[in-house]
Amino acid sequence: MIKGEIPSPTNPPSGCFFRTRCPLAVKDCAAAEPHLTEVSSNHRAACRFAGELFARRLTAA
Ligand code: SF4
Repeated sequence: MIKGEIPSPTNPPSGCFFRTRCPLAVKDCAAAEPHLTEVSSNHRAACRFAGELFARRLTAA
């Protein structure tokens, strides 16, 4: 189960809509909505750390 507050669809939080529930959120996540980033073939993610997290996952295996 994901902890944190479910964002209101009628009054979403600033920046990343997931930030009220994200364990990795930092102050800058409230400043701007993250863009979709291609992390691999046919796989995109909207997170400011998408590339870094995907690379770390690949090297941790
Ligand atoms: S941008 Fe990424 S780290 Fe920041 S709140 Fe959204 S999902 Fe979490």
